[in-house]
Amino acid sequence: MKVVVLGAGVIGVTTAYFLAKVGHEVTVIESREAPGLETSYANAGEISPGYASPWAAPGVPLKAARWLLMRHAPLIISRPFERDTLTWLFSTLMNCTSSRYAINKARMVRLASYSRDVLQQLRQDTGIRYDERALGTLQLFRTQAQLDAAESDIAVLREYGIPFELLDRQACELAEPGLARSPVEIAGGLRLPDDETGDCFIFTQALAGLAEALGVQFRFNTRVEGLELEEQAVRRVMTTHGAVVADAFVVAAGNGSRQLVRQVGLDMPVVPVKGYSLTIPIRDLQHAPVSTVLDETYKVAITRLGDRIRIGGLAEIAGYDQSLKSGRARTLLHSFSTLFPEVGHMGEGAFWSGLRPMTPDSTPVVGETAIRNLYINTGHGTLGWTMACGSARLLSDLISDRQPDIAFADLSLARYSST
Ligand SMILES: Cc1cc2nc3c(=O)[nH]c(=O)nc-3n(C[C@H](O)[C@H](O)[C@H](O)COP(=O)(O)OP(=O)(O)OC[C@H]3O[C@@H](n4cnc5c(N)ncnc54)[C@H](O)[C@@H]3O)c2cc1C
Repeated sequence: MKVVVLGAGVIGVTTAYFLAKVGHEVTVIESREAPGLETSYANAGEISPGYASPWAAPGVPLKAARWLLMRHAPLIISRPFERDTLTWLFSTLMNCTSSRYAINKARMVRLASYSRDVLQQLRQDTGIRYDERALGTLQLFRTQAQLDAAESDIAVLREYGIPFELLDRQACELAEPGLARSPVEIAGGLRLPDDETGDCFIFTQALAGLAEALGVQFRFNTRVEGLELEEQAVRRVMTTHGAVVADAFVVAAGNGSRQLVRQVGLDMPVVPVKGYSLTIPIRDLQHAPVSTVLDETYKVAITRLGDRIRIGGLAEIAGYDQSLKSGRARTLLHSFSTLFPEVGHMGEGAFWSGLRPMTPDSTPVVGETAIRNLYINTGHGTLGWTMACGSARLLSDLISDRQPDIAFADLSLARYSST
């Protein structure tokens, strides 16, 4: 079957790869000049099923109010009044109940755990390299109150059978020896030994190469401008370089997806939530982090990627604005330099911002739509790198009429019409 994939971020490229692997004739259309140059470019590098949790949770509205007032704030709302954003904020609020949280968490853990397994298999099959490490992640609590609050997360980890270790400061320093030099108070940590890390951009580029070897055609510098319907099916997509016809179409265009599906009468509650990262060359290998340390106070992830450190996080609701704000870099640096003093070449950091395509329930939209040959794979929010391989494999199975390995009905767009 001829399949066109719209978008060559980590989601589009993994989708194209798994479709080609089972014999489809795949074309990927991407407006940028290469794969992975938008949100998949410099994320925090965590492949973290253990940390797959919805943003919307009981108690979050109160916490959010506090975060908004902090000096190094993890949450900033600078443009809340657009209609899509207001509706999204309201829906997110509605998802903050215990019952919604349980449903959303279960979906995310299911997909994220499956995705890690698919990634591991892919690594075995292809030998793909991407500054990967399988050394777990460590969520670090600077205060006793944070440590106490982790009880509810631990209960959830137990419920889903996710291995974890609760550590005191000394044990945190054994896991991450660089922390021994930190002057800050560390009340303890929660280690998730099965989590992994790696550079999403290197992975996306390498997998695009492997997909090309399987016959996938990439059309870069080509923007999709419209989808054309004929008898309740998409007949072709119109691009800046002419029309492209296929039997099936997958929208995996990240933040461009909503605008595309709206053209054929569909909608999905996906809005951009901006995040920032800094990538710094390591100057002191001995005291550098060995894996990911997640600083609970500032919601910042500090990840070792080869001889670099990636410091990523923050959530800013600012529409599609991608401008870099120096104050956000200061927050990232503050978190990093207080935990790992003098470890990086601070003056040589590459500062970046990206827009997470976020749903209000933090679960991506993966699956078929009311239009017979149109599929969606987007809305992965904070965890697109973690969930990419699983989402792609699942969608490839659906398109190929194969029975997927995991339950999928509640991941498609239809869930928004039934809630
Ligand atoms: C600061 C930050 C830290 C993060 N940390 C992590 C992490 O540690 N772990 C994790 O799992 N996730 C993380 N994420 C989330 C993750 O990066 C995203 O979920 C993921 O990259 C989304 O991938 P995507 O392919 O959907 O989107 P993108 O990478 O944005 O790809 C979409 C592509 O579609 C193209 N496109 C859009 N519209 C069109 C059009 N009309 N025509 C043609 N092409 C089009 C775009 O050019 C783009 O290349 C982080 C995100 C941020 C911002």
